[in-house]
Amino acid sequence: MGYLILPTMMKGNYAPSAPLANPDVRTTARSYYELLKVPSTASMEEIRMAWKKEVALLLSDGIGDMDKLEVINVAYETLADPQTRIDYDAEGETSLNFDSKLAISRDLFHEGLRPLSGPRQRPRRTRDIIHPISVTLEDLYKGKFATFSITRNIICKQCNGEGGINRDINICTTCGGEGATGAFREGRKLHSVCVACSGEGVLTSFRDECPICRGKKVVPVPTTMRARIEKGMEHGQRLALIGEGDQAPGADIGDVVILLQQETHPRFKRTGNNLHTKVEVDLLTALVGGKISVDHLNARVLSFALGGGEVTKKDGILKVIHNQGMPVYRKPGEFGDLYINFSITFPDRVEGRSVQLLRDALGPTHSMVEEDAFVEEVSLAEPEKGQGEEEGPDCNHQ
Ligand SMILES: [Zn+2]
Ligand SMILES: [Zn+2]
Repeated sequence: MGYLILPTMMKGNYAPSAPLANPDVRTTARSYYELLKVPSTASMEEIRMAWKKEVALLLSDGIGDMDKLEVINVAYETLADPQTRIDYDAEGETSLNFDSKLAISRDLFHEGLRPLSGPRQRPRRTRDIIHPISVTLEDLYKGKFATFSITRNIICKQCNGEGGINRDINICTTCGGEGATGAFREGRKLHSVCVACSGEGVLTSFRDECPICRGKKVVPVPTTMRARIEKGMEHGQRLALIGEGDQAPGADIGDVVILLQQETHPRFKRTGNNLHTKVEVDLLTALVGGKISVDHLNARVLSFALGGGEVTKKDGILKVIHNQGMPVYRKPGEFGDLYINFSITFPDRVEGRSVQLLRDALGPTHSMVEEDAFVEEVSLAEPEKGQGEEEGPDCNHQ
């Protein structure tokens, strides 16, 4: 797959928890190719060289714009992986509608959220839009672009966010248009800002409510957005699309905060960077060994040899395959481990010639009866459905 290791000079600064210098990084580049200054036909090697050059350039000033670095790394990681590059090329053009803002999905998981519409924020900022999106474990393994739709408030174009049309402007009667009111105190005239007109001197009113927003100053608009799910991201992680949230007159625009919700996977469980799976081995393979294969999350099939007698218990022999777990978030080339719990499936029945062959191969059987015991011959039967089941959680017969 050609995973890439970051040059060591970057590693120190690359921890996700590192404070980022400029939270509202913007770039004028309109694609990852433009960002790396390569044509869209560039070869892997050209992309790699361009990335190294951009990183070196960024770090050469001694300060290093970590946000820019992050975006450049995201661009590189996307284009350096043939599969994500194909995905990007297929979908990437549509992302140019993003007001030239590229991949500014900021990692909030490791930074903590800034307070949502906290009190006394200046200037006022609209509430973040929290948007949960459902992702598969495959998505988190491979990374992808997630497209989703939200409805956000946009300042009404009809009334420019004023809520009314047909404006009336009148001189403020409280201050007579001066914007200030005076009062005599201790023989001196003191001026204070007119409360009625906020010092404007005029009062603006509208004869009619805006027919588009009906006086609300904003209109809800369905908007399609895209966010990049990076390899190794996890359930509960939040990423922000900075300044893509609700608009409101006189307020900064809040963010759209994406909350990743991982669907339960039928075959894999994840803990941290490790994966856990179960493999059922038939009795013969357990006894004599054989080739086992496990389908991974990105269409690869892992194949390995299982030695005879390695799986000796019916349930629960745990083995590990190193570096076949989840990709480590923002550490290209690093992976967790894959734990495999082997269990044995017994054949439904053994008949005919096989019985004698097994006897010859595995015998003799152990007699469980002591020699001088009083023996009564009985027979086994199938119980009636639902009959004879053990009750209560504490029942633990051998
Ligand atoms: Zn006034
Ligand atoms: Zn309006």
